[in-house]
Amino acid sequence: MITTLKSSKDVSKIVYVVDAAGFFAGVPLYLDKPSFTVEEVLKEVKDLSSRQALDLAVSASKIHIGGYTNEDVHKVIDLAKELGEYGRLSKSDIALLALTHNLLKGNYRVVVISDDRSVQNIALKMGADTLGIKRKEIKKPRRYVYVCKSCGYVATSPGTCPNCGIELTRKNWAGG
Ligand SMILES: [Zn+2]
Repeated sequence: MITTLKSSKDVSKIVYVVDAAGFFAGVPLYLDKPSFTVEEVLKEVKDLSSRQALDLAVSASKIHIGGYTNEDVHKVIDLAKELGEYGRLSKSDIALLALTHNLLKGNYRVVVISDDRSVQNIALKMGADTLGIKRKEIKKPRRYVYVCKSCGYVATSPGTCPNCGIELTRKNWAGG
């Protein structure tokens, strides 16, 4: 799976950052490098078999609970706004991305394992690699805008058009 990674950072410093979907799929049990998650994600894993697998991984030190700072959170929010992903991230998504940012500062080569395209998008923008679980990951960051189909009003986050009151449509922004 990791043959698709493109980063030039030292392979010996690869770490994985795993979201709740990864735990449901049993991902940490076969990973060969240090794997991290955040408390917020652990709380999402409640069904018994996933929980048992996770407890096993934590006790075998296959999963580490990572920390992050307010600065990391602010960086994630800035990037989410820049890419048009703001408003599409849960609290645990933001925490997981803040952890990713923190690990990248430590010069780790970080691989974020998630099926969430918004999480993947921001991770890529930070310089992390991404790996999908049940569907193929995106490879390059994308910028989205929110457009009114009626009058052409453009916004950087989801919502309704201030002129027409209709729901804005998410669009991949092709401009420079
Ligand atoms: Zn409009």
